[in-house]
Amino acid sequence: MSPDWRGKPRIALIGAGFSGIGMARQLLRQGFEDITIFERAEAAGGVWQANGYPGAACDVPSRLYCFSFAPNPDWSRRYAPQAEIQAYLQDCIRRFGIGDRIRYGKRLRQAEYDEDRRQWQLHFDDGERVDADVLIIGAGILSEPKVPTIPGLADFAGPVLHTARWRQDFDPIGKRIGVIGTGASAIQAIPELAKSAARLEVFQRSAPHVLSKFDWAYPSWVRRLRGALPFLDRLSYRLLQIGYELRGYAFHAQRWTLKPYDALTALQRWFAIRDATLRRKLTPRDPLGCKRVLISDRYYPAMQRGNVGLHTEAIAAVESTGIRMQDGRLLPLDALVLATGFVTSPFFSQCELIGRDAMPLSQAWRARASAWHGLCVPGFPDAFFLYGPNTNLGHNGIPYMLESQFGFVLQALQHRARSGRAVEVREDAMRRFDAEMQRRLADGVWQHCRNWYVDEQGNDTHNWPGSTWEYRRRTRRLDARDFL
Ligand code: NAP
Repeated sequence: MSPDWRGKPRIALIGAGFSGIGMARQLLRQGFEDITIFERAEAAGGVWQANGYPGAACDVPSRLYCFSFAPNPDWSRRYAPQAEIQAYLQDCIRRFGIGDRIRYGKRLRQAEYDEDRRQWQLHFDDGERVDADVLIIGAGILSEPKVPTIPGLADFAGPVLHTARWRQDFDPIGKRIGVIGTGASAIQAIPELAKSAARLEVFQRSAPHVLSKFDWAYPSWVRRLRGALPFLDRLSYRLLQIGYELRGYAFHAQRWTLKPYDALTALQRWFAIRDATLRRKLTPRDPLGCKRVLISDRYYPAMQRGNVGLHTEAIAAVESTGIRMQDGRLLPLDALVLATGFVTSPFFSQCELIGRDAMPLSQAWRARASAWHGLCVPGFPDAFFLYGPNTNLGHNGIPYMLESQFGFVLQALQHRARSGRAVEVREDAMRRFDAEMQRRLADGVWQHCRNWYVDEQGNDTHNWPGSTWEYRRRTRRLDARDFL
């Protein structure tokens, strides 16, 4: 690997999920050859590799859930299942010719900027040290499973599985299974587990808003037509994107437009759940949109099966043979499923980044995590985040946001090559951006309940408060005035 900038900068990409795979392809296309992707798992796919629980599937239409430069006319359904998305990503690796650039089982422990040599020193868990001129972090937000702090959890005698670390050798047939959590992962896993479990006890802390999914399998002729007429495929992509963008308008601009959705979820609950007591328990108290709006046609039917119980009272403790409720009842269980989400605060806690002047990222982010357009942090030259702070969406597909970020990183590297200076965003540009994000998010719908977006200080460090088009426009051209 040559350290010469005019030659080939050594580029280290962290994570072989959507971010790392797409970024590698775009870098290669622009002639950046010296790329290594470091992936901590033994396989590529990021969240789509880790979340192999039964029923896992996309909750954004598959057509929006792929790269524009690698369309897939072959999706089997409107919302592709997890295995198909992972297969798509494997196929991308093959099509982009990046397979031999991925190093598996490489968990980054620390990355430190060497100012004299203007390079990053990466330290991996296995003791290896790697030098790189550019560090691109595509480690994802939803990668560290959150394990609840329930007394006695470690004493449970049976298997304890987190949805984000599913063990494929787990056989639910005939078992009494407890599921803690009723978020996006839980509502996909519950209908599948309920089919084979002897008994399923669901522990709900707060009820989610669930809308009908409108999912269907694509007949083979539709797939063939899409493959044969790419413009049709592109047209359907555009129409879907516009539709989803309009929906997003409700989240970040006109909250009153959420009201019809609210009425619709209530109507769907009324039709879907016969028992009034159960319906009351499954009726959300949080405003719609504050947590992710979930989509399923199978969740409410599953909750009405004879072998499924819903528990909304607080859990007192986990015991070796089951879960003890606050009212003293013990629910006997053979296995426990934690559908309790992810550690999302602090942002990027997987490893320590140490920038210029030995400044740790955790110190730079002591007030809150923030990066200029989610991409760059002052004091961290030639380092870029993909899907960084404030680039998450509640209303549309993330791949479009990622492609804006890929484009920006390419420009930054070209700027770097031209100017000979490390790419580092200015403090004042960062402050302006951060102030704008906080102002626009202050009264956002996400502020009105407990969710994974807002930290304990009340800062929403995750969501983008505008449209994906606004984000594209703002990252389309690098303005040298924003950089040192
Ligand atoms: P989540 O939305 O954070 O849900 C976690 C669930 O666990 C919530 O019901 C939460 O209750 C409950 N919980 C957490 N700690 C608990 C505790 N100590 N005791 C009892 N209950 C507890 O996590 P997730 O379902 O894994 O989804 C996270 C995100 O992943 C989603 O928002 C979405 O962005 C993404 N996702 C996407 C898909 C997809 O289809 N593309 C599928 C799954 C996930 P409270 O609500 O009361 O906090």
